Amino acid sequence: MTNQEKNQIKQFRAQGLGYGKIAEILNLSKSTISSFCKSMDREDTFCLQCSSKLKQSKGHRQKTFCCDKCRMEYWKNHKKEIKRKPDYLVECSHCHNNFLTYKSLNRKYCSRDCFFKNKVERIGYGQRHDQLS
Ligand SMILES: [Zn+2]
Ligand SMILES: [Zn+2]
Repeated sequence: MTNQEKNQIKQFRAQGLGYGKIAEILNLSKSTISSFCKSMDREDTFCLQCSSKLKQSKGHRQKTFCCDKCRMEYWKNHKKEIKRKPDYLVECSHCHNNFLTYKSLNRKYCSRDCFFKNKVERIGYGQRHDQLS
């Protein structure tokens, strides 16, 4: 089997194709495909938290952590990133709709659209004023 074929098998597997179908496309025997896929399933994976080697059991969902302790520790560290939601209510200086934002951002407009419209209006009035006088 060539490396190109191996890569194709990986792609086909990712697309959810069965051994038989892959064998047909690549013109290889079904047993070649299945033994390759089985060896691939045994590829090493590592715990996201402590990086220790994980034993994947066939037919089970892929493990990402070696133990519950690592899983809890990992999510504890990542909680802040997940939880960070805008929580500061401000009134848009253009359309006067209330919108949520981060306090630190100090935004005055609910969208870029309002920001530009506000700018254009101010400049527009100025020009009209100039023409009249
Ligand atoms: Zn671990
Ligand atoms: Zn607005």
